Amino acid sequence: MLQELSRIVAQDKNFLNIINGRQGAALSQETITVLCPSDGMAFATIPAGNKDDVDRAVQAAREAFDHGPWSRMPAFERGRLLTRLGQLIGKHGEELAALESRDTGKPIRQGKADVAAAMRYYEFYGGAADKIHGDTIPFHDGYTALTLREPHGVVGGIIPWNYPMQIMARVVGAAIAMGNTLVIKPAEDASLSTIRIGELALEAGFPEGVLNVITGYGREAGAALSAHPGVDYVTFTGSPATGTAIQQAAATNNRGVTMELGGKSPQIVFADADIEKALPVLVNAIIQNGGQTCSAGSRILIERPIYNEVAAALGDRFSSLVAGPHDEDLDLGAMINPAQKHRVENYVSAAAEAGIDVIARGSIDINAPVSGYYVAPVLFGSVEASAAIAQEEVFGPVLSLFAFDDEEDAIRLANSTEYGLVAGIWTKDGARQHRVAKRVRAGQVFVNAYGAGGGIELPFGGFKKSGHGREKGFEALYDMSATKTIIFRHD
Ligand code: ADP
Repeated sequence: MLQELSRIVAQDKNFLNIINGRQGAALSQETITVLCPSDGMAFATIPAGNKDDVDRAVQAAREAFDHGPWSRMPAFERGRLLTRLGQLIGKHGEELAALESRDTGKPIRQGKADVAAAMRYYEFYGGAADKIHGDTIPFHDGYTALTLREPHGVVGGIIPWNYPMQIMARVVGAAIAMGNTLVIKPAEDASLSTIRIGELALEAGFPEGVLNVITGYGREAGAALSAHPGVDYVTFTGSPATGTAIQQAAATNNRGVTMELGGKSPQIVFADADIEKALPVLVNAIIQNGGQTCSAGSRILIERPIYNEVAAALGDRFSSLVAGPHDEDLDLGAMINPAQKHRVENYVSAAAEAGIDVIARGSIDINAPVSGYYVAPVLFGSVEASAAIAQEEVFGPVLSLFAFDDEEDAIRLANSTEYGLVAGIWTKDGARQHRVAKRVRAGQVFVNAYGAGGGIELPFGGFKKSGHGREKGFEALYDMSATKTIIFRHD
């Protein structure tokens, strides 16, 4: 079944932009060849959109927002559109999972998990659309004051390549629920599911111009979108460096932004933790999506008395991990592109050369094509807090272990990076759970659990270099809207 779908994609798919409800090539007719990370082979093309295409897409979104029926559509109708889109995604779930995993190299089960999460986002925001409202505010005698939550207008959404279907869903779901129109620019390395879902949105009945999709390179299409004066709000998920460039571009028009910029997330394992319960979660938190996850648990802080035991148990598990082609559905797939593969390999070789202890390495499936972008997982032990692999987001299957002496030391280590996205705490001590959860600087803190992915209801976003603004849950609806205060005088 999967092979059959892959063949269909390989033979006939030149994916197109969606502007104002119509599909088309880039104005320049230029394309970007889509390579499958599992074997490095070309299997599709996407348009290489540039400033001119972005201009047309923004105009379409502007027109739909300013003059179309969109702004008069009741919230519950917008909600219905999102719910219908979620249903269509479910109906095309097998196809979308196969497409996403072929485009990104992720194991097929992760593609399926992404479909399930995307559906939930559209369902959640479909249901939320008519359940968010303003306030009335006590004011002077003779006045009535109230607030409305109004859409920003045109939202520019710049999507990364690691979880395109999920991240598109969290942006589109919240933005449409609040009545915005959108121009989405997916990553040049992983645009296919975004285009396909743009097509399904038309089938679901989204009016023309409400959801436009432009593919192209970040430095061209992405830069043009973030600097466009016709865009009212910009949302981005990706690296801090790109986030800075996008914020600077948006600042030229003084536009608001939501930035989700990755992490170096710690999991703290205290000596009283249920280790058997923790182990599979600790491994999965770095192996899922090959470690190419903003919320990856890339640092494990272990209380010294159990350090050796936990390190050995993790080492056993790491040695048996295998990376391989997406359709083999092994522990992890390929990295997204050769540059990412080399980046991860460079971190690993620099750490090993610096004498950091390699506790264990996984392997690459012997049948995996040599032209694929595979990296074997690596577990490093007794890492110093100042090491590059302790401070920088590797975005690969590289896990670092640290020993700590007491609670204070654990908190110091947990907060010792510039990032602050997610944290995990493993202990049975209830008072400690609360104390540590409050003192760790992270937008989400899990206690005796970990994994930001599925929790579409849970507000998500960073402190410090991990960004600002919140996505997911109801909080995203506030980010995707602005308060208007209306004051009536009636004395
Ligand atoms: P990073 O890995 O630095 O987060 P990626 O290249 O993966 O950046 O890009 C994430 C998203 O940001 C992609 O959609 C990409 O096209 C886009 N992008 C990259 N550079 C820029 C830029 N200068 N301006 C706007 N968007 C950009």
